[in-house]
This record gives sequence, structure tokens and C-alpha cells, in this order.
Amino acid sequence: MTNQVRVRFAPSPTGPLHMGGVRTALFNYLFARRYNGVFILRIEDTDQGRYVPGAEDYIIESLKWCGIDIDEGVSEGGPHQPYRQSERKDIYREYAEKLIRSGNAYYAFDTPEELEMLRKEKELKGEVFQYDTHSRNTLNNSLTRTPEETKSLIDEGVPHVVRFKMPENEELNFHDIIRGIITVNTSTLDDKVLFKSEGMPTYHLANVVDDYLMQISHVIRGEEWLPSLPLHVLLYRSFGWMDVMPQFAHLPLLLKPSGQGKLSKRDGDKLGFPVFPLKWKDPFSGEISTGYREAGYYPEAFVNILALLGWNPGTEQEVFSMPELIDAFSLERVGKSGSRFDPEKAKWFNHYYLQQKSDNEIAKDYLQILEVKGINSSVEKLEKIVSLVKDRVNFVSELWEQTSFFFTQPEKYDQDVIKKRWNADTPDMLEKFTVFFERAEDFTALSLEEKAKVFIQEQQMNMGQIMNLLRLCLVGESKGPGLFHIAELIGKEKTIYRIRQAIQKIAGKHQ
Ligand code: GLU
Repeated sequence: MTNQVRVRFAPSPTGPLHMGGVRTALFNYLFARRYNGVFILRIEDTDQGRYVPGAEDYIIESLKWCGIDIDEGVSEGGPHQPYRQSERKDIYREYAEKLIRSGNAYYAFDTPEELEMLRKEKELKGEVFQYDTHSRNTLNNSLTRTPEETKSLIDEGVPHVVRFKMPENEELNFHDIIRGIITVNTSTLDDKVLFKSEGMPTYHLANVVDDYLMQISHVIRGEEWLPSLPLHVLLYRSFGWMDVMPQFAHLPLLLKPSGQGKLSKRDGDKLGFPVFPLKWKDPFSGEISTGYREAGYYPEAFVNILALLGWNPGTEQEVFSMPELIDAFSLERVGKSGSRFDPEKAKWFNHYYLQQKSDNEIAKDYLQILEVKGINSSVEKLEKIVSLVKDRVNFVSELWEQTSFFFTQPEKYDQDVIKKRWNADTPDMLEKFTVFFERAEDFTALSLEEKAKVFIQEQQMNMGQIMNLLRLCLVGESKGPGLFHIAELIGKEKTIYRIRQAIQKIAGKHQ
């Protein structure tokens, strides 16, 4: 084996990639890049019953969006292609037979109905049926039949599977980079199916054989695969591959925001955050699930969030670019215990990355949203608007809430402001201000503000009151950035028009 780091992300295309899956891909990628290794995408599609059309493309697009570059894989090719297990079908039977010949596996002829009956019988007694070191001696397999019988059953085409022959009562120790030494007694384990009757390998066989053939140095995957580890180690041993067995690292679970239990799609639906990187339309039910991309997250933010779910840099630093992550990442700093996902923190990250973007980039994105609303504007104007309010939003889509008054005049006026500020003198005061605006030659925020201060003093107006009233006229409520910035951006004509409109609409009712 070479000493090169070779890691793989090996999803099954059974649906959209959960954010936990993307985190697994990310940690593999970071580890590969950190040690100048190779990151492989292998599609594990041997379970044809669970195959979902579109899932593979979805996985590839998701990784691409995150900036996780694949070195070898289904679309990149590579020295060990094909990288899709359904196209490697013929390889696995040979390995299953190898195990039979070495006495590490056997043929089993029990029908699904027979096994189901045994399961039910046990269940009635409050017990659990396992095909294992004890029960296998009473079941229908090549261990209980003579070699001749076995051969003739196979020759007759009787459906059969290949099962792993679990060693009896053996204390196994193995090492996980994150969890340390794990000890299991083989008598608690079952004889897993390695090869199915329809001629396909199961996950366990295909996964181990491919990791071996693809010279994988480290298997980095989710905690849910930890129970499979003893079998996988035993498969390496049975094949005689212990000297090239990869090192294992099982990543901690992602937990619900409450910290109780595994993060699921339902939590996202309930609490209003995506659990998938990209939007997904279920090809069978047509159900649509939102994705981080469509929810307005930047990939940098999404990656940053994921990186801190389970890994910590050991410092106070929270914001990491991809190159910084590559530099800082190590499996030693991945924790064992589940990692709580905090949707508010996710928004905070997006807010942070949004502030790092140029006004031009945000303006271009915002222009698209405005176009959908049928509003015309220019990037130049939007740059100015964006610079005034971007610190108030987490997402570009939230800009509308903060800036709609730049494009449309108020339809309603905040009653609380009216109650508090509007009196009999107000229309007169506002009229005076329309004249002020009318006369302003330099209609920029800076100049308007300077001159307005002087004007307010001269007119002996109350600063707080008049400013609030002007804002009411231009915005309709007491929100928004600096008043004179708003005036500058909507322009002289509209500023004056909005003040007149407000006088007309409000004055009638409040004189
Ligand atoms: N196909 C498995 C999955 O869907 C791969 C697990 C592993 O990485 O070994 O996650």
C-alpha cells in the first residue's frame, strides 16, 4: 500500500443528501487536502430497491456548490473506475466465493418466509431471532448440509445468499481514531448477508472490497456505521488484508437544536430551517424540500457551519474559509459526543459572510429578486441602498423588508407614530419642508443633513418630532436607514411628492 492519504465519500443514492452527509463529505475532503491526499466519490447503489432517480446528480451538485472538489469519482473517472458499484457488480461475487473457500462464509438457502416465521416465533417468546453462531447450526445452509447437497441445490438454481461466518466467542479489539479502542465479543454479532440471491452484494461486502481495491487509507463516516465496524474488520482479516486495512473514524451524530436526538428532516420542517444543501423534489411524491442554497445561504457559510459540527479548532476562532479549514483540520479534534445544530448560529454565519461580500455582488443578487417583483432598478442604485442596510439582514432576500420603501411609496402610515407626533401644526411644518427640499440644489444626504439642521433651528422646530414625521411620510413607519439617505436615493421629486401625499392622507383624519 502507498502511504498516500486516500479517502472516499460513499453515499447511497437513496434520496437527497442530508446535511450530516455533506458534513461527512466535507471532513473527508478536508482530511484529504490537509495531507495532500485524494478525495474519491463512490456511489454505493447496490440496493436497487432503494435507488432514487436524480439522487446521484443531486449529490454531485451539492458537493460542487459547497466547493468540495472530487479527485476521482463517477464524473471524474480515475485509476479505479468505475466508481459506481452497480457497474462493478461482477467483481463482488468472486470475493464472496473466496470467503466461502477459506471457510469464512457459507451459502444459506432459508427462504425469506422461513426466516420471517422464525422471527415471529421468537417474538412471541419475547426474544429476538438472529442468524448467528448459535442458530446457524439448525438452519438451512451449507454448514448443515453435505457438500453434495449444497452443490446440487446451487446447480438446481435454488435461491441462496452468502452469509459471513462469524467466529465463535472471540473478543475483538479495534481502533477508531475518534473513539479509541472498541471491544466487542463476536458471539453478540449476527452472520450478515454478504451476497444477495439476486446476484448483488450487500453494502458490507461491496464497501470493504471497494475500499480495499481503491486503496482507501482512512474511512471517515457517520456514527451510524459504527455497529458495522466489527464485521468490516473481520472481513479484512478473512481476506488476509489486515496489513492494508484503512484506519477508521466514526463522526458524531448531528443532534436536534434541543440537543435531544438525531437531527431529522421533520425538525427542519417544524423549526423552519433546511436540512438539505439544495432544494429537492421527491421524484415519487413530488414533495419539495428547501435547501440551504435556495434559502439564501452562501456556500461559505454552510461549509463553516458544518465544519464546526463535531470538529473544533481548539481556539476561539469561529470563522473559517475553506483554505483555513484545510489548514486547521484534524480528526484528533473531532469529538465523540453528538453535536447540536443551532439554526440561529447558522443565520449568524450567513450574516457574517454577507457583510464580507461587496455591495456590487449583493446588489446584483438583489436585482434578480426585484426583477421577479417587477421592479426596475440599477445595480448602481442598489449598491447604495445595500450599503445602507446590509448590516440589518442575514439574507439577500431579507433586503426587501428593509428597503421596499425605496421603490414603492407608503400605502399605510403607522398609527402609533401619528398618535405620538402628529398635531395641528404638522401639515404646515411639513409643507415648509417641501419648500426646503425644493430649494436644495445639492440633493445628497450629507448636504441635506447639514442644511436641514440649520433650517430646523431657524424654524424653531423640534428636531426629534420633525425627523420622525418626515420618516413617516417617506417610509410609512419608523424604520429604515438615515432619513436624508432615503431622500437622496428616492430623489427630490418623490421626496416632495411623498410628503404631500402623507399630508393629504393623514391630515384629513387628524385635524
Ligand atoms: N453507502 C454508505 C452510506 O450510504 C457508506 C457508509 C460508509 O462510508 O462506509 O452512507
